[in-house]
Amino acid sequence: MSIVNELYRIKQRDFSEKLRELTDPRIIYVTDLVSCSHKRSMRLSFPLLSFKFEPPLVLGDLVHAGLGSLLAENGWEAEVQIEKSYIIDGKEYILKGRADLVRRGKNGKPEIVVEIKTSRDLPENNPREHHVMQLRIYMQLLGANRGYLLYVTPERLVEFEIEPAEMDIEGLIRETIYDLQTPRYEWECRYCSFRKICPYARTNKRTP
Ligand code: SF4
Repeated sequence: MSIVNELYRIKQRDFSEKLRELTDPRIIYVTDLVSCSHKRSMRLSFPLLSFKFEPPLVLGDLVHAGLGSLLAENGWEAEVQIEKSYIIDGKEYILKGRADLVRRGKNGKPEIVVEIKTSRDLPENNPREHHVMQLRIYMQLLGANRGYLLYVTPERLVEFEIEPAEMDIEGLIRETIYDLQTPRYEWECRYCSFRKICPYARTNKRTP
């Protein structure tokens, strides 16, 4: 028996089950709206390159699962699926996302949304812009008025309260489907699964 092999098979099974959705051009994920728009085009053309099995990702999954099950005892709901349809230039797109933790009020409506982020460090000790955008989109879609970004790093366990702000979700969908943010952030290419075959990849120039 190998636990690593078992974990790999579970991740591979989950990925295979999601493959049809990953290649459906009508589906857009909230994470697509806050990252390089060309990643979505590459995913639609080369879906298998999206599969990753790396220690930081496994660690991230474990932290999410662990916090979800611990906090469920205190009334938090973990991995809340979100879905909303948008008509853009006559075509229907389904925006999908998954909020890590949600707490509902007495009326049953979502009140607080928490997005968990794991990483090696927390540069400048500030929440990162694309994480703030992602959380605000979840808050808007769920109608919640409080949000927190919880960072878990080897050195830190720190949360930031994020004020709600009106997000132009339709505008972000347009940027994504018409590929207008390639890349959204310069650093994205360094970590991108498609960088070796992407014509827009930013490469570090060598000094002559
Ligand atoms: S390599 Fe860079 S430009 Fe190309 S898809 Fe990835 S992040 Fe976007």
